[in-house]
Amino acid sequence: MKSHAKVVVIGGGVVGCSVLFHLARHGWTDVVLLERDELTSGSTWHAAGGMHTINGDPNVAKLQKYTISLYKEIEELSGQATGVHLTGGVLLAATEARLDWLRGVVSKGRYLGIDLEVISAKEAAELMPLIDPSQFVGAVRNKEDGHLDPSGVTHAYAKAARKLGAEVERFTKVEDIVRRPDGLWRVITNKGDIIAEHVVNAGGLWAREVGRMVGLELPVLAMEHMYLITEDMPEVADWNKKTGTEIIHAVDFDGELYLRQERGGMLMGTYEKANKVWSEFSTPWNFGHELLEPDIDRIAPSLEVGFRHFPAFQKTGIKQIINGPFTFAPDGNPLVGPVRGLPGFWVACGVMAGFSQGGGVGLALSNWMIEDDPGADIWAMDVARYGDWATMAYTNAKVRENYSRRFSIRFPNEELPAGRPLKTTPLYDTLAAKGAQWGVSYGLEVPLWYAPDGVKDEFSWRRSTDFDHVAKEVASVRNGVGLSEISNFAKYKVTGEGAAAWLDRILACKLPKRGRMTLAPMLKEDGKLIGDFTLANIDDAEWFIAGSGIAEQYHMRWFEAHLPKDGSVRIEALGQKLTGLAIAGPKARAVLAKVTRADVSSAAFPFMAVARMDIGMAPCLVGRVSYTGDLGYEIWVAPEYQRAAYQTLLAAGEEFSIGLFGSRALNALRLEKNYGSWAREYRPIYGAVEAGLDRFVAYGKDADFIGKQAALAERKQGGKLRLRAFLVEADADVIGDEAIWHDGVVRGWVTSGGFAHNSKTSVAMGYVLKEIADRPDGFEIEILGKRHKARVQAAPLFDANFERMRG
Ligand SMILES: Cc1cc2nc3c(=O)[nH]c(=O)nc-3n(C[C@H](O)[C@H](O)[C@H](O)COP(=O)(O)OP(=O)(O)OC[C@H]3O[C@@H](n4cnc5c(N)ncnc54)[C@H](O)[C@@H]3O)c2cc1C
Repeated sequence: MKSHAKVVVIGGGVVGCSVLFHLARHGWTDVVLLERDELTSGSTWHAAGGMHTINGDPNVAKLQKYTISLYKEIEELSGQATGVHLTGGVLLAATEARLDWLRGVVSKGRYLGIDLEVISAKEAAELMPLIDPSQFVGAVRNKEDGHLDPSGVTHAYAKAARKLGAEVERFTKVEDIVRRPDGLWRVITNKGDIIAEHVVNAGGLWAREVGRMVGLELPVLAMEHMYLITEDMPEVADWNKKTGTEIIHAVDFDGELYLRQERGGMLMGTYEKANKVWSEFSTPWNFGHELLEPDIDRIAPSLEVGFRHFPAFQKTGIKQIINGPFTFAPDGNPLVGPVRGLPGFWVACGVMAGFSQGGGVGLALSNWMIEDDPGADIWAMDVARYGDWATMAYTNAKVRENYSRRFSIRFPNEELPAGRPLKTTPLYDTLAAKGAQWGVSYGLEVPLWYAPDGVKDEFSWRRSTDFDHVAKEVASVRNGVGLSEISNFAKYKVTGEGAAAWLDRILACKLPKRGRMTLAPMLKEDGKLIGDFTLANIDDAEWFIAGSGIAEQYHMRWFEAHLPKDGSVRIEALGQKLTGLAIAGPKARAVLAKVTRADVSSAAFPFMAVARMDIGMAPCLVGRVSYTGDLGYEIWVAPEYQRAAYQTLLAAGEEFSIGLFGSRALNALRLEKNYGSWAREYRPIYGAVEAGLDRFVAYGKDADFIGKQAALAERKQGGKLRLRAFLVEADADVIGDEAIWHDGVVRGWVTSGGFAHNSKTSVAMGYVLKEIADRPDGFEIEILGKRHKARVQAAPLFDANFERMRG
């Protein structure tokens, strides 16, 4: 075994082998994979081997498509059969709500290049003969569905990697990992040490143990999972003989089942409600090629539905039940990427669908390690989407919930209850008493809307019970003044003698003068967005940044990786050490003026001014800016003063009929101003010109900000896409990820939208090809399977001249 390597990959399951292959294919060949046993000694060997392109996140779906397309290449390169059967499949809907959901999946598939088609239940039964069509209302046909040999695929990755120069050391257990003073990693194994620049944790079932070696508690948990294999079935033999083809795959969402042919019989797997955690706190090192005891009672309710939906199963015997463990992150997507605070330590774990996702994970991670960028939008699987709040107990609650809901519908207005409430602000009980309906953002409870007694969200794809109430909240802002809690923003404090110079390099905007704020895009080297913030210069010595709450860890990882080594700049994520309130609407200034001695007249405290001032008795930092696009203020206050500031504002606002508003009203308000937001309109695949943020980029400033050259090139060439706001003629609103059509062809996708109550219209924001972005008509947006007329809304619907906002 070598003593030095550029990269040590820990774990020889499908994921580790894919990472090794991709690193070698990308040109890093001084790489070695360490496996404590034979390859596939974790969850990989007993997988059902199913693969598919469908994922809730379109960017993960793209990587799944890539994974499936890769099998031919690794088979040819390695000479190792992967056993791929691209049978195609049907996704079955037993209810109209499910069919609505599937229509959304088809719409996404259009711009992702995934060939999906809505078909009737009868047509589904013609393709998959075991279905009782009377049990279903419709289906979607997916051609890129199939199965493979899990062990064959894993060995094919490993052999292909070896051919490219990578090494694989079996029976080599990593026992500890130590960071040396020179920044290299000492990987301690039962066969000696390896010194490495990079370490990848692809430990699968033992990812937690490998994480703990470097002081990380990863939010990963294994669940037991069962599938059964039947005796040979005459229906299967008949079909094979008659058509010369295998029976295609089926996913029966309402039965929570997946099915495929296995030799002369069928394989049926379930995601049962009564699920079971495996090895809650730690994974035994002596576990390997064992299976777990099957428990048919646990899956009986699903099987009962399965036997009804697929009657041929009633007449056949069960040959074998496989029960094995595999790992999940709290939301079911992988954990991939560099770990904040541990330079050179990478994770590729929590991959619950290794045969659909393993290739994409390997590609993204190798790009990231070699090019400093994953090369794709992998936010949905970035390890940085979790912070310290994702504790072991939280992970346990969420993973169990996610497993039991794997095939359940999640409506756009549906909030999942497990692991909550966890993080709350001092106002939680007060706002709950006012009827707050809660959502969650980066672990923090956030008021979505305020419901009168007895009213609750009714889950729906269409407008729901909250509609009229959100409309009232919107009206209170536009007609008078509204108050909302905004603690869910990420807040950062930047200090140190090098702060201004550093901000000038890391952010693409011009730095604001003392007492002023600006919108601040942050770019990567390739000129694409990696953040959008509000930057405030408090007093030239202290700077304050507000940004997307869900991206706190993501942005801190970036900030810290780019800090000067000399300690001249300090940045702190304030989290809930600083809470927030916002007031907005034409009467907002009158309210503020009543509660502070500071001069908040427009002349003294204009749009984009920032200052410390007391609100009542509470010391606050106040910025004159509002995401509502109205006259408004964001108020930052230490949690111990938040209630006092809130009570003071509410009392002062009484004479103006101040109303509380939640994040759904905020969405309705920002939509009529064409304001985008991070992770929706602004993501690391869009350039500043494409996203319409170029007006905040100081192309001509002296500082050589990150991404400057690429940003200048984008400005010259114009990029490929344009963000646009559309008015949609529909009685249901977009959710996000729907296809945008132009002249009968799909030319873009929706990023977000909703109903803009004040303007009484449905609005969608999304990206379309630059060439057609300014066409007055011809656009349609697909909602729930129907195309609806849409018109580009160039100027904001509300306050287009900024008179209210800046007045
Ligand atoms: C019953 C069942 C059915 C499934 N069906 C499907 C399916 O149809 N389709 C699909 O895509 N997925 C399926 N899966 C999930 C799939 O098995 C996983 O997504 C996949 O195996 C994850 O691979 P991995 O490489 O991350 O982890 P693992 O397979 O667990 O591999 C981790 C490897 O790391 C090694 N290792 C750990 N720690 C160390 C150390 N310290 N030193 C050296 N080596 C170490 C282990 O020995 C192991 O070989 C199924 C899982 C189960 C249980």
